[in-house]
Amino acid sequence: MQMLSLASFSLSSKITETLDSLVSVFQTMRINDLIDIVVLSFIIYYFWNLIRETRAGQLAKGILFLLAAYILASILGMKAIPYLLETLAQSSLLAILIVFQPEVRRAMEQLGHSKFGLKNLGLISSSEAVEEQWREAIDAVCSSCMDMSATRTGALIVFERQTRLGEQLSNGTILNATPSKELFEQIFYKNTPLHDGAVILRDGMILAAACYLPTPQRNAIIDKKYGARHRAAIGMSENSDAIIVVVSEETGHISVAENGDLQEGFTWKQLQAYLIGQMIDQTKKRPFLDRLPWRKSKQTTPPQDAPAPADGEEVRHEEKADH
Ligand code: ATP
Ligand code: MG
Repeated sequence: MQMLSLASFSLSSKITETLDSLVSVFQTMRINDLIDIVVLSFIIYYFWNLIRETRAGQLAKGILFLLAAYILASILGMKAIPYLLETLAQSSLLAILIVFQPEVRRAMEQLGHSKFGLKNLGLISSSEAVEEQWREAIDAVCSSCMDMSATRTGALIVFERQTRLGEQLSNGTILNATPSKELFEQIFYKNTPLHDGAVILRDGMILAAACYLPTPQRNAIIDKKYGARHRAAIGMSENSDAIIVVVSEETGHISVAENGDLQEGFTWKQLQAYLIGQMIDQTKKRPFLDRLPWRKSKQTTPPQDAPAPADGEEVRHEEKADH
């Protein structure tokens, strides 16, 4: 009993000590320290962004867990766990650098290619370079969709926005290719290895193909005329802020899914206006803080200026429900 009260006394005094030192840090803080913290946060975020969908991302999570255990054990005054973790850290730093050499190299290369790495920091995610890339991608999507609509070739194209689609990417095939009309038509050409599933676009590039998208939560109330492809588009738009373009193999109709709604019957011009409005103009309008990559888009309704579908038919799946 006495031991227990002693332990709790030492824990509370440790916590008070830590809080006191935190308060004194804030009291003596200068503007330089603040800049220091902001820059360091961006560097950490930059590296996290580079590695989070790789093997190194898993390792980073493990290291964070061990770090938390180390800090906790030190606060509680334990001896063995901090000693063991310190020894482990000293000997494993070099091993980690050797094992993850490809990732480290890729990170350095990306830093060199981008404008001082600002693109990867998310600071200029809507910069002219990305905007230009999106314009080219949208042109390629629109013209290929028109062709695929005429030839009755089914297609499913996801425009990633703030929500990262790591899970869908992990079950697809990574391409990292510049979009072109020819490439889209090649990917969705019947009976080719990548035609089944969705293409995912990130920052105006074709990141992956043959990705499996989630089924909608309200699957049962969606109009029965829609099959698995259209449902997958609705499902993806329920689960993220992505915009999904669908070309129907059966009817040739072009549809767009966003926020769980599907609008059918887009013409070339309407599709282009819609995509430019959502992928470029909306991003520019949003305040800087909302454009930070970790902030999910708050937009919940399609824009007022969204084009009316060609045949005047707007499909809100819950409205058209059979039951
Ligand atoms: P269409 O009008 O083109 O026939 P549909 O809505 O009737 O479309 P299906 O005919 O069932 O849908 O389309 C099947 C194809 O849709 C599959 O071959 C596959 O390429 C794609 N697909 C189905 N489900 C998914 C999914 N969850 N994720 C990605 N792609 C999918
Ligand atoms: Mg079908």
